[in-house]
Amino acid sequence: MKLAVYPGSFDPVTNGHVDIIERAACLFDHVIVAVSVNSGKKPLFTLDERMELLKEVLKKYENVSVDSFEGLTVNYTARKKAQAIIRGLRAISDFENEFQMALTNKKLLPEVETIFMMAQPQWSFLSSSVVKEVASLGGCIRDFVPLAVEKKLKEKFSI
Ligand code: ADP
Repeated sequence: MKLAVYPGSFDPVTNGHVDIIERAACLFDHVIVAVSVNSGKKPLFTLDERMELLKEVLKKYENVSVDSFEGLTVNYTARKKAQAIIRGLRAISDFENEFQMALTNKKLLPEVETIFMMAQPQWSFLSSSVVKEVASLGGCIRDFVPLAVEKKLKEKFSI
C-alpha cells in the first residue's frame, strides 16, 4: 500500500491545503494529514481545533485521515511506514526552506521521498497567516477557506 504523510501546522486549513490533499489522495492509496505540534509557530487554533476542522473538511475523502505528531516529521513518517512526505510549493519564497528541509529529511531517512506539488495558480498567494490577518481585520475570507473554517475564524475574531 502506498502511503503518504502531509505534515503541516494547518492553522487553519485553507483551500490551498485542501487542493494539495485532494490531488495527493489520487496518487496514493492513503494520505495522512499530520498536524505538527511543535512547528515553532504560536498557533491561533489549538491542536484539537485544527484537527477537528481538518476532519470536518476532509470527511468526504475516504482515503484521507487526520492525525497529529510531536517531534521530527521523519520519525513520524518512519513510525507510520509511509513512503512519501507531501509538501506544497507556492511562490519561489517557499523553495529555499523546503529544499533545505527535504535534503535534511533525505539524509535522516533515505528511503522516504519528499514529493512537491505545485500550488494551483488561484491558491498560490494563499497562506494560513494571510487568512488570519484578513479575518482579524474583518475582511471576507469566504473564497479562501472551507465554510467550517470561515465560521470558526468569525467566532475567534467575533466578526
Ligand atoms: P508548515 O508550518 O509546515 O509550513 P503549513 O500549514 O503552513 O505548515 O503548510 C503545510 C504545507 O502546505 C506546506 O508544504 C506548505 O507549503 C503547503 N501550503 C500552504 N499553503 C498552500 C497553498 N495555498 N497551496 C499549496 N500548498 C500550500
